[in-house]
Amino acid sequence: MDPNQIKKLKTTAVNNIITHFADNKDLAQNPKIFTKGKGCYLYDVEGNKYLDTFASLLTTVCGHGREEIIQAAHQQMKALEFFPNYHDSFTVPLINLSEKLAEISPGDLGVSFFVNSGSEANETAAKMALQYHWERGEKTRRKIIARRYSYHGTTMGGVSMTGIPWFREYFEPLLSNVKFGMSAQCFNCELGLERKTCGMLCLTSLKKLIEWEGPESVAAIIMDPLPGSNVGYPLPPDGYLEELREFCDAHGILMIFDEIQTGFGKTGKMFFCEHSGVVPDIMTIGKAFSGGYLPLAAAITTPKIAEVFSEPGSEFRSGSTYGGHTTACATSLANIEIIQKEGLVERAVEMGAYIKNRLDKMSEKYDIVASVRGIGMLWAVELLADRKSKTPLDKNLNIGTWIRDYCWERGMILRNNGDILVIAPALVLSKEEANFMLNLIEESIEKVIKAFKL
Ligand code: PLP
Repeated sequence: MDPNQIKKLKTTAVNNIITHFADNKDLAQNPKIFTKGKGCYLYDVEGNKYLDTFASLLTTVCGHGREEIIQAAHQQMKALEFFPNYHDSFTVPLINLSEKLAEISPGDLGVSFFVNSGSEANETAAKMALQYHWERGEKTRRKIIARRYSYHGTTMGGVSMTGIPWFREYFEPLLSNVKFGMSAQCFNCELGLERKTCGMLCLTSLKKLIEWEGPESVAAIIMDPLPGSNVGYPLPPDGYLEELREFCDAHGILMIFDEIQTGFGKTGKMFFCEHSGVVPDIMTIGKAFSGGYLPLAAAITTPKIAEVFSEPGSEFRSGSTYGGHTTACATSLANIEIIQKEGLVERAVEMGAYIKNRLDKMSEKYDIVASVRGIGMLWAVELLADRKSKTPLDKNLNIGTWIRDYCWERGMILRNNGDILVIAPALVLSKEEANFMLNLIEESIEKVIKAFKL
């Protein structure tokens, strides 16, 4: 493209669009405009090629430009692009997708409410829990328990359940019926304890909060069973989810698992909760659900809960125009079909082990690589000045961002969250691509150590 045209596009972009979670410093330097995708690669308007290790914000599973998905969308558009899932109406892709979800979801999860984004799915799940108790006559159950440092979205409901102050501070006071308990992040334990000797005090504290609030006032607990990229994938302690499930059952509290980031094979199981065998009452999905092809999300619940909404007069009181968009459902079905046909969940286990092995070696070799966390194809590398005392690197040095820029300049999209590097590529990543990714990460770590004398 002509350089003047590119310049004009960039000026228009910056002037006319408020970017999601914008970084004005980065925007002022060089806004990026993408024009093409193929497999794990993206191409920008200047013709640069990038390996995407963040899977287009964790959405891509089977790669960009998949003909099967494009055809599925094309065929559906030709037949009927959209009719709403409204009142008493369905479309065929929507029905087929609901059947597929029932097949692949853990336990008896299998009744879905479709929406457009992860935030909406989480709001829906909370509303579902509240109305479920209401319809059953337990009208005191009005509270939602969430966990500190969990991310559940940016809409007013989503951010109300998000436990990261940065997302909340401008918008408070938020929903007053959301109460926050302790997170479970072993490496960054809020109490500074060590897993071997902590006695899982984080869970005790969470239970104490619920007991203090009054269990009969609690409708549900929402949690990310594997917290996401914002905190760098801290695995829950062994037995944590099982014990919390027991506690919730004993007190009639519903469990909502947010699998928006972890669903569809990214952790080496179709859904993360399958690693523990703990099945929630409501599971929310988004992102990889449609593989990035069209916006789609859902809250999936059990027949037992859905049944409560089946009597005339007790219908679930929620809806959105495009929720369960016909063509989005068709693309999602094609996406899931590829995941199953190509064994991408199993592939995530294999490739994930390879990635972990290389990252662990980097941690042995470089002092600043203090923690390598994750599972399957979701990995985080936390960089610290001193791993024993967990002293952070000097924030003013922006080490994580330096590494990110080093990789971008050499043809690789890398996401950093401060000094946490996130490595979460699509599940079709080849061995060669994995090697390119890991070699460049290692090279950037070596360079940054030298450049800043770390
Ligand atoms: N929950 C989790 C764990 C997420 O990672 C995200 C998005 O990053 C959301 C909820 C919100 O999803 P969306 O951005 O589609 O609203």
